[in-house]
Amino acid sequence: MKKTKTAEPQSLALEEAAVLPRNFRRLGIEQRRAALQRAFDFEGSENEATYGNPMLLELADVMVESAFGVVGVPLGLVKGFLIDGEEVDIPLAVEEPSVIAAANYSGQIIKAGGGFRTWSTEPVMKAQIFIENVAPEREELIRKHEAEIKAELKPILASLESRGGGYRGLSVTRLSLTQIVRVALLIDVRDAMGANILNTAAERVRTLLESVTRGSVLMSILTNQAEERRSGARFSLPVKRLAHVRTNGFSAEETARRIVMASKVAQEDSARAVTHNKGIMNGISSLALATGNDTRAIEAGAHAWAGRDGKYRGLSNYWLRGEILEGGLELPLAFASVGGAVGYHPASRASLKILGRPTAHRLGRIAAALGLAQNFAALLALVTGGIQQGHMKLHAQRVAYRAGARGKEIGRVSREMSEQRSYGLQAAQGILSRERGSTE
Ligand code: NAD
Repeated sequence: MKKTKTAEPQSLALEEAAVLPRNFRRLGIEQRRAALQRAFDFEGSENEATYGNPMLLELADVMVESAFGVVGVPLGLVKGFLIDGEEVDIPLAVEEPSVIAAANYSGQIIKAGGGFRTWSTEPVMKAQIFIENVAPEREELIRKHEAEIKAELKPILASLESRGGGYRGLSVTRLSLTQIVRVALLIDVRDAMGANILNTAAERVRTLLESVTRGSVLMSILTNQAEERRSGARFSLPVKRLAHVRTNGFSAEETARRIVMASKVAQEDSARAVTHNKGIMNGISSLALATGNDTRAIEAGAHAWAGRDGKYRGLSNYWLRGEILEGGLELPLAFASVGGAVGYHPASRASLKILGRPTAHRLGRIAAALGLAQNFAALLALVTGGIQQGHMKLHAQRVAYRAGARGKEIGRVSREMSEQRSYGLQAAQGILSRERGSTE
């Protein structure tokens, strides 16, 4: 536990064991680590796991304030998704054991049925400027000054315009409760996520808007709702193909019917929809993390979309068309292929290489296919044998590791745990000591 004691200035504080200096953020990264080591007495593996290597540590220090380390989330590969006729390998950064396994499994089933068809809208993002004390006749003037607003934004948007993006229009709305006037600027951000670009644009027009409206700007920022910037994916699967997958004794037809019914439940029951959508985001957020994208922004947009008609619903849908099971998903996906940490962090560059250096459009479409695959794997398991069978197998490997198993022992111990259906630490320790006894 953190030991609290009033901190002293830097030099004194560093000599004081067990106290984190108040000026922690001003220290160099090595000093911060030393201070933490004294205060919390990290064990060897805790030190190694957060230290990374000097290059990563330096990178962490320029990326965030008060950095003291890095966290090594596993990076894994989903192999051979068939998306719009092209094979794609997808790197995911995720700590949850079943995510990559599920995508690999369902991706192959969907591939056998012809793969995914995907689409995306233009990458238009929205910045909002909220203005107080605007008289009704002044509100009208904002639209009349659109040419001036565009001219004011021109220098900021010049590089986007040269890439085919840029200004796409504005809307003016008076909010009914606060009576605040909201000006929304629509900007096509091409391959960027656009947060900095939009925030800069929104702040740039502040003075102009205040002089036109004679009101006062309360705040200006983009919205992560991103509802203009959507990507979607669909697949069609002959029902008979489900005869070749694990269905726990259900016929292919009954399995397909149950999947469709499960998707209807996620439309009707919001509590179920939350978990349904969490499963979709398992893949999408992991791809976002692997590529250096802003996971929180993408998640916020997805969940807002799930509740867009006032009720929180499942993001995907499944239906039967004759003998074909079809699945579809569309949601806002503000994925970037440049900007922010994308392409800046070397791990994101490695991920983008594996993905074939996609545009932001393409990355959004890959994300949509991945989300749908993840969801299909979850529904398929849920309406047949349940998800625990698969999950516990992977969980067993982690417990075996915690029990001390290493190398090939991990597979042997976890297999026996699964056979015995005993997943506790004690069970793993027992199996491990028997295993070691028998090999000595
Ligand atoms: P950014 O500031 O790095 O801007 C993108 C840059 O890429 C621009 O300079 C642009 O000129 C350049 N670029 C090169 N090739 C391009 C292409 N093909 N298309 C578009 N631009 C191209 O990044 P950003 O996208 O403006 O902002 C993203 C960052 O902002 C993320 O790190 C995010 O976490 C952070 N952020 C998010 C929020 C939020 O979501 N609410 C708020 C503030 C900041």
